[in-house]
Amino acid sequence: MGKTTILLALFLLVAAPRAGIAQGGSPKIVDAHLHHNGDPTFLEKLVAKLDSVDGVAFLLTPPKFLEQVRAFIPQHPRRLVGFGDISLDDPQALELVDRFHAAGFRGLGEITSPLKNYDDRGYWPIYERAEQYGMILLFHTGIVNRENPTMPADISVDRMRPTTLDAIVRRFPKITVIGAHLGNPDYAWAAEIARWNPNLFFDLSGSSLIKKQNDYAFFKSIFWWSGVVSPHTPKGGAGAWEKLVFGSDVFDGELEEFDRELGRYHNMLDACGVSPEAQANIFSGTLWRILNQKPRTGTMRGRKA
Ligand SMILES: [Zn+2]
Repeated sequence: MGKTTILLALFLLVAAPRAGIAQGGSPKIVDAHLHHNGDPTFLEKLVAKLDSVDGVAFLLTPPKFLEQVRAFIPQHPRRLVGFGDISLDDPQALELVDRFHAAGFRGLGEITSPLKNYDDRGYWPIYERAEQYGMILLFHTGIVNRENPTMPADISVDRMRPTTLDAIVRRFPKITVIGAHLGNPDYAWAAEIARWNPNLFFDLSGSSLIKKQNDYAFFKSIFWWSGVVSPHTPKGGAGAWEKLVFGSDVFDGELEEFDRELGRYHNMLDACGVSPEAQANIFSGTLWRILNQKPRTGTMRGRKA
């Protein structure tokens, strides 16, 4: 392939059609974390659910369901945003990022269970490609379940600490990163690195809002800097609570969890006295704005054809 052909191919990948999400006003809910189980009937039920709440979901899609979801999303561009659920250690990872992007997917995730720490330089080419495409990255952070205790597994929560996202968001300032589960139980670390990194957000899905249900005021000590003016807090920018975004973590087709998680978020935010304006950003505004930012032109930084 000649240089011109390669450049043209790269341009076409970068300029691939984006989902028609930008049309119309902002929805009431943007769910940053919803796993597709591969069942086409689940997709139908999901869209009906999202219609009923005026919601949009980031649909986390394993590569084997790429074609199914690619065909389905354009029928519901106001409800679904595709995310490619890739493994950082997949030898085909870069190619998969290209394929998901070309199919109109807007992000990657939920990235989980890496063989190296998330911030390992071996993964940087993947992050660099995602940055060129303007993709959002959703990383699992903190404690993770053990699906099959009788099988040996090369998985460690230590490689998924929320602090491992710090180097990524600093090195790739144009990427928006969402850490899932607020680093459970490393909440303080998760919030502190989000405080100084404008391109980092967290969802609070998972067991945390169940564990803390009798002590929701606890989260005031985690998101402590709203309204605080000091040389040690970021100037301007959103309030502390707006480092949170909504995520349901629906998986295995259990759509009932969507309402339950929504209820827990509302209870916690109300218990902490979070303003309606901030709550509107948590439930949809922040991610809606990010989704509708001008498409990036895709600088080919660091890549030589
Ligand atoms: Zn997770």
